[in-house]
Amino acid sequence: MSGASSTLLIRRVRVVTFDDHDTIHPDADIHIEGDRIAAIGPRLPVPPDARIIDARGRLAMPGLVNAHMHSDETLFRGLLDNMPLEVWMLYSLPPLGYGPVPERLIYLRTLLSAVEGMLSGTTTIQDDVSEAPRATLEGSEAVLRAYLDAGIRANVACNMTDKAFHEKLPYVASLLPHWAMEAIRTAPPQPTAELLALADLLLRTWHDRNGRIRIALSASAPQRCTNEFILALDDLSRRWRTPLLTHVLETKTQVITGREFYGKSVVAHLADLDVLSDRMTIAHGIWLTDNDIELLARTNTAVVHNPVSNLKLGSGLLRLDALRRAGVPLCLGSDGSSSNDTLNMFEVLKCAALIHKIASPDCRTWPSARNVLHMALRGGARSTMLQGQVGMLVPGALADIVLLRLDAPAFMPLHDPANHLVYCESGRDVDTVIVGGRVVVEGGRVTAVDAGAIYDEINALMPEFMRMLDRAYATSRRLEPILWQVYDRCQQEMPEMNRFATPPREWV
Ligand SMILES: [Zn+2]
Repeated sequence: MSGASSTLLIRRVRVVTFDDHDTIHPDADIHIEGDRIAAIGPRLPVPPDARIIDARGRLAMPGLVNAHMHSDETLFRGLLDNMPLEVWMLYSLPPLGYGPVPERLIYLRTLLSAVEGMLSGTTTIQDDVSEAPRATLEGSEAVLRAYLDAGIRANVACNMTDKAFHEKLPYVASLLPHWAMEAIRTAPPQPTAELLALADLLLRTWHDRNGRIRIALSASAPQRCTNEFILALDDLSRRWRTPLLTHVLETKTQVITGREFYGKSVVAHLADLDVLSDRMTIAHGIWLTDNDIELLARTNTAVVHNPVSNLKLGSGLLRLDALRRAGVPLCLGSDGSSSNDTLNMFEVLKCAALIHKIASPDCRTWPSARNVLHMALRGGARSTMLQGQVGMLVPGALADIVLLRLDAPAFMPLHDPANHLVYCESGRDVDTVIVGGRVVVEGGRVTAVDAGAIYDEINALMPEFMRMLDRAYATSRRLEPILWQVYDRCQQEMPEMNRFATPPREWV
């Protein structure tokens, strides 16, 4: 049976709770009433009318929280390689001549993102979705409807910017040829008031729909938004108690951007605006300074770590140990499928646990498997503002649960479950996924939507989409040499700052 079930009893399962004491029940039942966990313990009484899931030989864990992704990139997986962020953006979100993407394709690519997430054990997704050439109600609603239909829990933020292409990067304005400036003039940025009206409308009509779908807010990056706009989004976030997402110091270029635009770090600029808060999650933060980290810690601003994406785009290595020592809240994300190129959080967990072991020879500073699981689960709950609701299996929490098959090489033989989940499991042993008490994956297949039909329809629509993308790429290719100039110049400046594996003298 698929779909809603008011009472569920998962019987005889090994439960890894990730509660405050990291309690593990070797053989217990999980009683679910409505969308919440009612009880966990051995041999619970069978409630009348309960649907029973015999889970012998399974492991139950909290559903994973993907705190940062972009569903608009889902059609781009496998398309690009070996480009730094600034050049890559020309092809992942072409600034000129791209879009609009048909609503149906927006809906389908979002469904595909949800399906991929659920099949690999993600139950909460925080989507920072861009729409080109401008954010619309229709496009946002196509995204929201897809998450509603797929059965996953989602925070949807419309990625917003109210500045023009040449105003978002240092040096670009003086390098652009006449034809490019003319093209930019004919496609001005979306007016601030129009963006705010859309955010306000989405909050009023969609926030907390069905107990699963929530509206978050996104200022794409500080340097891509006017101060007035950032302040207004922060105000909306405060009034609605909903997350405010942004991208900060992902690349060296953004260090130089802060210096050129504000005469200080982008984080110090946000602190001046007084918008750093426990509602804000900044993506990446690779190039944070000590002072930036102190500002984030003092304001309880979270950082979402996207290690696979950072490796793919060659952005550098996050200072994870410094962030952990300062007490900055941390969570994990896949980032978009154009820079990862999957939404599989098990890959992110493994990468997060491994990559920081090259940061220093002191193994006492390395994150453990348990540390990165806590980042994804409890940290993800905090970033999505679902603290105490998701990320742990305890009575009263939402019933967002993943059951993994233990009769698989990844768990054979079974030692420390946290180590197996991070270092051995790839997502392929996900058997059952429950979101808010509803079974959304059963026997490794999604239940609420027809995945095969989604794949077929996307394949049928791709040729037309690629024709549109190719037209935009013609312009992006003409802009590419300018972006390389900006990139190369920024790499050479401030050589004292380095987040790469070799010293600057080897590559400047
Ligand atoms: Zn991102």
